[in-house]
Amino acid sequence: MIKEIIDKEKQTKLSPDDVLNDLMAGNERFTNKNMHERDYSSQIDKTSGGQWPQAVVLSCIDSRVPVETVFDQGVGDIFVARVAGNFENTDILGSMEYSCKVAGSKLVLVLGHEACGAVKAACDHVELGNITHLLSNIKPAVEATQTDGERSSKNDSFVAGVVENNVKLTMNRIREKSPILNEMEKNGEIKIVGGVYSISTGKVSLL
Ligand SMILES: [Zn+2]
Repeated sequence: MIKEIIDKEKQTKLSPDDVLNDLMAGNERFTNKNMHERDYSSQIDKTSGGQWPQAVVLSCIDSRVPVETVFDQGVGDIFVARVAGNFENTDILGSMEYSCKVAGSKLVLVLGHEACGAVKAACDHVELGNITHLLSNIKPAVEATQTDGERSSKNDSFVAGVVENNVKLTMNRIREKSPILNEMEKNGEIKIVGGVYSISTGKVSLL
């Protein structure tokens, strides 16, 4: 069966949990090689007059995390904001507020991933051009992560801990810095959730 686009009527009926379930079911189809068939020409045609995406995903730029693909989503299905290390800033908060408050999305998903290069660079305190400023956004997660071993990118479990903490701290900061999203979540209009994508299995694990 060919997957249809999300129209306004479908978007209105969705709850935040419906959307989360749809993304996780899509990730299962992705890992089981059972993805929906899509007629992209038809999807382009049907979305040209407007969009009613169900979620906004904040992801890293990593080429191994093709967001729409790993959740088996089509044209017009999700908004995706991407920055190395998947943290928020003012413009990304504005993009997420637009997604939910203006365009009707029901879910904010912060998606970190295994072996993130930006997280590793933050662990190693890399300083280089504008990357130095970028990494300052990930430093709080580095500081918040405990380990008995080496506090560097050579320690895989430390890096995994920082990846998780970076997602959690980003979720907290989204709630703190965006009264709009915070209120929508409190009212049950949206959910703000976090997950980590495994570059070795293709699976998303919710935190
Ligand atoms: Zn990354």
